[in-house]
Amino acid sequence: MKKNPALPLYPRAEFPRELDLCLTDACNLDCRYCYFTAKARTAPSSLSPAQVERALDLYLERLPARRVQKFSFSGGEPLLRWDSLISGVASARRRLGPRPNIEVFTNGTLLDRRKAEALLAHDPELVISLDGPRAVCDAGRRFYGRGGSVFDAVDRNLRALGRGLVSRCFAGSTFSAATVSRMRESVEYLLERGFKCVIVDLDVLARWDRRSLDVLRRQAEGLKKLYSSSMNLGFGEVQQRLRFDFLISREELRQVARPAGLKELSLAPDGKFYPSGLVSGRGAEKARYAVGSLAEGFDTGRMNAVLGELRGYFGRHARSGYNGCPTHVYFACRLEGRSTEEVFDSGERLFGALDPVVGPVIDFELLQNSLASAKDLGDFDHPPRLAPAAGPAELKLSLSPGAGRARDAADAALYPPGPSKRLELAAAENDPPDALRRLAAYSLMKARLLGKKLRLAVVADG
Ligand code: SF4
Repeated sequence: MKKNPALPLYPRAEFPRELDLCLTDACNLDCRYCYFTAKARTAPSSLSPAQVERALDLYLERLPARRVQKFSFSGGEPLLRWDSLISGVASARRRLGPRPNIEVFTNGTLLDRRKAEALLAHDPELVISLDGPRAVCDAGRRFYGRGGSVFDAVDRNLRALGRGLVSRCFAGSTFSAATVSRMRESVEYLLERGFKCVIVDLDVLARWDRRSLDVLRRQAEGLKKLYSSSMNLGFGEVQQRLRFDFLISREELRQVARPAGLKELSLAPDGKFYPSGLVSGRGAEKARYAVGSLAEGFDTGRMNAVLGELRGYFGRHARSGYNGCPTHVYFACRLEGRSTEEVFDSGERLFGALDPVVGPVIDFELLQNSLASAKDLGDFDHPPRLAPAAGPAELKLSLSPGAGRARDAADAALYPPGPSKRLELAAAENDPPDALRRLAAYSLMKARLLGKKLRLAVVADG
């Protein structure tokens, strides 16, 4: 593949921090909402263990392991290429160390105890696709070329795994307009089955009529209660038992028009890299988005061209009401010849129903996670560096000295005796955009930890 040295963007831009390895285009199922439209039913292609190793070598030559956010192993059904899956997961964990996330997606029909134990030994997020009880699951999932209940097959395998192993696995459940009326009940069912976490997804590329959006709104209300009650509102990273991975944060949305780089690279079974797992799952039409190959490495010029195409489109079409991954929609529409505008319009109605209900809880979770890992604000349990015996009951605090010092000042106001405190926080124009919000959340949590009543006023400059 020819490189284009005239386009220097990628060497400077953020190299994609997620790598998807799409091990095979074969699958024994034929799910109604499957985005892997190029499943090969007669002569499947797949990646050998050596090809997976080569992909990891190529990728980690470009991005140090400490910068990696996520590796995922998908398909088709990746268990149909067990040798590549198990050696790839083991190698990825060895190279990445304990922290970055490794995801394995499986439809669960071929998962037995031995394979689950072998995979879990490398501590991946093992995500088993199961939408809910039999009627919900079998409404969306069916075997290819034969009858029989997919739910029954997965259910049998889960029983063989036992609750101990199931409690280390994730359930991946997808809802469409046809099944959304049973969303809450399904999530409860999956939690009761003992999964570590249920990852909820929606068929965002499909059309949702007004009636199904009303149903979604009501179901989301039910999930919100479950969501917040399953969240540890403590002072560390949130260990959530319910996740909405398809929703992206408002901060990510703001960056969509001018992304710092492609988010993900995906290696398809044809041995070529593409800018998303969704693209890897398409047929010959995906060739125009190839950005490298196992044989020749990454093609910086092609990556720049795809990034430029995304920036061009999202620079012209702001999509602030679409909280899912916009590039996912963009690529799907380009490759299917669908109207991008229509799918985004329909998606905005979908998120309009969902976001007011679960959006604030998700924002809070993101905020709490960012606080827990922030060097300057996290560490809720620290003793104050300055703890005057008697401090002000009321404090006006400007962020400008820096968040760490602002935290010390907030502590100095909150720690001293007195059941209630009043804090006024003010940010200047050049303060980091999130700093005020984070310090406000920090102060509220800290006051709660100290058992104090806090009246908080936030003043934004301009
Ligand atoms: S199991 Fe996954 S790849 Fe297979 S048909 Fe269903 S959604 Fe598609």
